[in-house]
Amino acid sequence: MSFLYRSTRNENETATASEAILKGLAEEGGLFVPDEIPELDVPFEELAEMDYKEIAFEVMSRMLTDFTEEELRACINGAYDEKFDTELIAPVKYHHGAYILELFHGKTIAFKDMALSILPYLLTTAAKKNNIDKEIVILTATSGDTGKAALAGFADVPGTKIAVFYPKNGVSPIQEKQMVTEKGKNTFVAGITGNFDDAQTGVKKMFSDKALAEYLDEKGFQFSSANSINIGRLVPQMVYYVYAYTRLIAAGTIAAGDKINVVVPTGNFGNILAAYYASQMGLPVNKFICASNDNKVLYDFFTTGEYDRNREFILTSSPSMDILISSNLERLIYRIAGNDAEKNSELMKSLNETGKYEITDEMKKNLYQFYGNFATSDEVSSTIRTVYEEDGYVLDTHTAVAVNVYDKYKADTEDTTPTIIASTASPYKFARSVVTAIDPKLDSEGDFDLVDALEDISKVKVPQAVEEIRTAPIVHDTVCDKDEMEAVVKRFLGI
Ligand SMILES: *Cc1c(COP(=O)(O)O)cnc(C)c1O
Repeated sequence: MSFLYRSTRNENETATASEAILKGLAEEGGLFVPDEIPELDVPFEELAEMDYKEIAFEVMSRMLTDFTEEELRACINGAYDEKFDTELIAPVKYHHGAYILELFHGKTIAFKDMALSILPYLLTTAAKKNNIDKEIVILTATSGDTGKAALAGFADVPGTKIAVFYPKNGVSPIQEKQMVTEKGKNTFVAGITGNFDDAQTGVKKMFSDKALAEYLDEKGFQFSSANSINIGRLVPQMVYYVYAYTRLIAAGTIAAGDKINVVVPTGNFGNILAAYYASQMGLPVNKFICASNDNKVLYDFFTTGEYDRNREFILTSSPSMDILISSNLERLIYRIAGNDAEKNSELMKSLNETGKYEITDEMKKNLYQFYGNFATSDEVSSTIRTVYEEDGYVLDTHTAVAVNVYDKYKADTEDTTPTIIASTASPYKFARSVVTAIDPKLDSEGDFDLVDALEDISKVKVPQAVEEIRTAPIVHDTVCDKDEMEAVVKRFLGI
């Protein structure tokens, strides 16, 4: 079976899975999407007896059709090993009336590890398959978590170099320290004087610059992306929704075929889109609940059908979701327009030129499974406190956005469908916001004192990822303007 990936902006631009992973982005800013999503034709009862890696193979082999079984199994085995602090890889826990899917047990304690542990394997395998002899340069914009997860994944991987751009004043102190202490010899990290959207726009611009691509080619380099615009990020993210669903079957909580809701704290729309793709493969989902923070552009979109980024960018206590241009929404827009590249291009052109677009009533109807809502930073604090007081479980700020929005959803709809909430980060990554939500008196303490306080509060040991940066020296200190991104990448490559 060979299904092709196709650009959301040009129906004639196609790629195999491995080519799409290598390129990252299609021409003219388009994103690669699967033509059709094959059915997951393995009974759920059977999947319920498999472990994470086996399920990963079942799901990913249907999406990455030009990888051989041997290649794909080698990628999966390399990725989901003792880098994770539990054999379960993604444990499911019951708190506050929902199943919390903990996606933060990887090396950098955010859900980005779920895909970025395997992306370097997929990418180097794809390079081999396609006889690429150039060095691959991974360009990455990060709202805080992708950066370190990508650095950890690609550090010292032969044949690759990686450059990461983060908003200098828009990430948590722990997130920043994780990135600027990265030791990999092929890595480069720069803070930019701007926000995440500026970083992402700058990176996308370099990707679509043909003259730059030719220049790189001459010098022996080729760009690829570790952002969720790369299909190699989305496919591994489909796995854990199937995994979580089958754990509920194994536990006797639901029967095979029963519907569930999923709640996803959302920024760039990659994680929730992966859940949507999993449902197209056969996962029985009732509602996709899209949880936003104060940057509630998606809530407004799902409520009105108009996407409008013309608004103030707000720095919140959930910085990894401080985004006004949710790149992966384009993939959903393309789908609800009936896989219509022309219609999608028209809307994206409008977004580019006016900062907004409005979908048709017909398209709106296709969004009936989506529900959007948002939580303010104050609501996030009180949710963290409430859940902690219930049973001692400590949420990070992003997961707290999701839990708060789920409460609102239940109040709005009285829906009692069993619900999985994607828990996207360890509370240790956002120790200040989390600890002061529970005990405001501690706000005067230093960042690592708060880490120790969190250990007392949560009774969960300080993760290795935090221990190792306590005293680590700073390796990267570049700060640049958003207009200088291309120049600093060239300097890093020595060209
Ligand atoms: C990246 C991130 C998100 C947002 O995920 P998207 O796929 O960009 O929607 C939410 N929470 C955390 C902790 C993240 O790192």
